[in-house]
Amino acid sequence: MKHFALAGNPNSGKTTLFNLLTGSTAHVGNWPGVTVDKREGTYRKGVEPISIVDLPGIYSLSPYTPEEVISRNYILNEKPDCIINIVDATNLERNLYLSTQLMEIDTPLVIALNMIDVVNKRGEKIDVKELSSKLGVPVVPISALREDNIEHLMKVAYEASLSKRKATTVLENNSLRHLISDCEIAFRGLNVPNALFHAIKLAELDELETKDHPNLVSMVEEYKDGFRDEVFGNDFEAVIADARYKYISHHFAQVKTHSQDHKSKKGTPSDRADRILTNRWLGIPIFIFILFLIFHLTFAEDLFYLNAMHLLGPDGLVSFPGTIFEGLFANGGINSPGVILFNFLDNVTGWLSEIAGTALASSPQWVSGFLVDGVLGGLFAVLSFLPQILFLFLFFSILEDSGYMARVAFILDRIFRKFGLSGRAFMPMIMGFGCSVPAMINTRTLADDNERTATIRVIPFFSCGAKLPILTAISGGIVQMFGIGNAEFITLGMYLLGMVSAIVAIIFMRNTTMRGEVPPFIMELPAYHIPQFKSLMVHLWDKTKHFVKKAFTIILASTILIWFISHFSFSFQFLSDEEMGASILANFGKFLAPIFTPMGFGSQLGEFGWVFVVGAITGLIAKENVIATFGTLAASLVAGFAGDEEGIQAVMVMAQATNITVPGLLAFVAFNMTTVPCFAAVATAKAELPKGKFISTIAFWLIASFLVGSMVYLIGTWWWTSFIFLAAFIMAIIIIHYVNRARDQRIFKEGI
Ligand code: GDP
Repeated sequence: MKHFALAGNPNSGKTTLFNLLTGSTAHVGNWPGVTVDKREGTYRKGVEPISIVDLPGIYSLSPYTPEEVISRNYILNEKPDCIINIVDATNLERNLYLSTQLMEIDTPLVIALNMIDVVNKRGEKIDVKELSSKLGVPVVPISALREDNIEHLMKVAYEASLSKRKATTVLENNSLRHLISDCEIAFRGLNVPNALFHAIKLAELDELETKDHPNLVSMVEEYKDGFRDEVFGNDFEAVIADARYKYISHHFAQVKTHSQDHKSKKGTPSDRADRILTNRWLGIPIFIFILFLIFHLTFAEDLFYLNAMHLLGPDGLVSFPGTIFEGLFANGGINSPGVILFNFLDNVTGWLSEIAGTALASSPQWVSGFLVDGVLGGLFAVLSFLPQILFLFLFFSILEDSGYMARVAFILDRIFRKFGLSGRAFMPMIMGFGCSVPAMINTRTLADDNERTATIRVIPFFSCGAKLPILTAISGGIVQMFGIGNAEFITLGMYLLGMVSAIVAIIFMRNTTMRGEVPPFIMELPAYHIPQFKSLMVHLWDKTKHFVKKAFTIILASTILIWFISHFSFSFQFLSDEEMGASILANFGKFLAPIFTPMGFGSQLGEFGWVFVVGAITGLIAKENVIATFGTLAASLVAGFAGDEEGIQAVMVMAQATNITVPGLLAFVAFNMTTVPCFAAVATAKAELPKGKFISTIAFWLIASFLVGSMVYLIGTWWWTSFIFLAAFIMAIIIIHYVNRARDQRIFKEGI
C-alpha cells in the first residue's frame, strides 16, 4: 500500500485534515521511545487505499525538539511515497519556512494550502499558480474545515507519488552555494540518498548530521575560515535560515495581494483583538477573569452569585421541590452547568446503587458489600467527577482551538521565566486543578526534560477535583466544631498553600537537581478562529478517552483491593463495617502511625488514630477514598450514623473520637494535597516523565508532603517554630547560592 505523510506547522489544521482523510480508520500510538502521539489511518476514497501518517507539528527540520527529529527521520528513513505539506494560508510566510526544507528532500511533495476560506473571507487573494511555479511544487488550495477540495488534493498527491522527484532548494543564489554544492558532491560520492538535504544540513553543522558524518565536518570548518557574513559572521546555520526567510519574503509577499478595505492601518481583526488580549497590563487580568469564569461555570452552586445578592428571593430558588429532580438545577442558588451534570449523574448512580442493594438484599453480607461498596462504589466515585472534568476540558479546548491559549503562554512567559519555567508550563498547572492526569499529559509541550520533570512534580500541588471533598469536609468540620474561621476562607487558604508550595519547590528544583535553560519562547501566534464544534468534540473525545481508560482500570482494581483489605482480618475472617478496626488495613495504619506524629495525626491520636493514616493511604488509590474511609469508620463508632455521604459529620465524629487538634486537621489536608497523587496520576507520571526520573519523583512527593504537613502542624501548634522553618529556609537558599556560584566558576574555568 502506498503511504503518504502529513507535515506542517502546529495549528495549521493537520489534525482536522488527518481526521477528514482517515475517518474511523485512525488510531493513535506513540513514536518509539518518546511520548509524542503517532496517528495513522487509511484514505479509501482514491484509486487505491493509501496509508496516512500524521507527523508531529513542527516549524523546521532542525534537530532541536523530539518532534523535529521524529519527522525528519521518518521522512528520510521510511521514505513516504508523497509528503503532503499543509500550510496555513493565513500565515503564509512563516509556514513556507518548513516547505523550503521539505523541498530539499527527493520525496514527492504537494503543498495543501489550508484555511483558504479565511483568506477569501478577508478579501485577500493568494496567487496559487505563481506560488506553485516559484516553488516547483504542486499547490492545492483547500479548507480542511469546510472539507473543500480535499479529493482534488489527494488526486494531485497520488499523481505526484507516481513519479520521482528531484530535490530543489531556494538557496541556489546564496553566498554558501559553493560550500553546499561541494558537500552535495561529497555525499553523492558516498552514495548517500538525499544528498542535497544532507549537504545543507552539514553546512549548517547540524548536530545529527555531524554525528553521522564526522569526517566531512572538516570541509565546512575549512570553508568557515575564509567566510564572513556581514550580519551573522560564520554562523552558517543563521546565514542559511536568514537566506530562507529573505527568499520567502522577497518572492511570496507579492503572491498575496490584499484587497482594498483590508489595507487599513488597524490590521486584521486578530491583530486588533491581540492589542487588547495580549496587552502588557490588561492581558493577565483578562486571563484571570476568563479562568475564574471557567471555574465558576464548572463548580459554582450559586451561579453569578445571584442568591448571595438576594436576587432570587428571600429563600433562594429550589428546583422541582418534592420530586426526584429536587435541587438538580437550583438549590438556593442556581447551579452551574458543571454542577447540574454532576448532580444528575449522582442521582443516577445513587439510584443504581439502591437497585443493586435491593437486588442483593438476600445475599450474604460480604457479597452485597463487595459488589455495592467495592465495585460499584469505586466505579461511581470516579464517574462522579467526570462531568466537571469534561466541562473543564471543553472550556480549555475552546481556548486552545480559538488560538487564545498560545497568547496566554506568551503573556505568562515573562513572569514564569523568573521562576525558571517557560510560559508553556502554565497550562498543565492550571489543568491540575481539574485532574492531574490530563495535566501531566499536557506537559508534552515542554521541550526541556528538566523543566518537564519539575512541572510534572508540582502538578499535584494544584489541588484537583477529587481533593475538593477533603477540603470541604475538613474545613466544614473545623468551623462547626471549633467555631473558628470560615469554611470558604480555610479552603481557599489551602489552595493557596498548595500553589505557594509549588512555586517554592520549582525554584528549589530549578536551582539544584533540575537545572536547565528555559528555551527561548518562539511560537507563532495563529490567527484567532471560531472553534468548530466537530473539532472540539474530537479533542474532547481524545482527552476523555485517555482519562477514562487510565483512571478506570486502575481505580476499579484498587477500590476492590481496598475493600478486601478493609473487610478481612489477617486470618481472612470477613469483618463487618463495625469491626473494621481489626482489618488488615487498620493494622497497617496502626503500624505506620508513628511516622505521621510530627504532622499531628499519628500516634498521639490513640485508639482510633489509625483512621487518619488509613485515610491518607487509601487516598493514594483515589483521593475520593479519604473522606469515604472516615465515613465508614464513623459508621462503626456511632450507631445509626448516616454513612459516607455526610463528609463533615464524619470528620466531626472522627475528630471527637481522636481529640485531633485544628493544626492536626489542617496538616492532614496539607499532607494529602502535596503527597503522592492517586494511582492514575502516578501511572501517568511514570509514562510521561523522562527516563530515570520516576523513583526520585515519588521520593520528592513523600518528602515534600512530610515537610509541608509538619510545617503546618508545628507552626499551628507552636507559632515560634516558624522561626526555625524560616531559618532553615534561609540557610538552604544561602547554601544553594554558594554551591551554584562555585559550580559556575568551575564551568567558567573549564571553559577557558
Ligand atoms: P493542528 O495543530 O495542525 O493539528 O491543527 P488543528 O487541526 O487542530 O486545527 C487548528 C484550528 O484551525 C482548529 O480550530 C480548526 O478547526 C481550525 N481549522 C483547521 N482547518 C481549517 C480551515 O480550513 N479553515 C478554518 N477556518 N479553520 C480551520
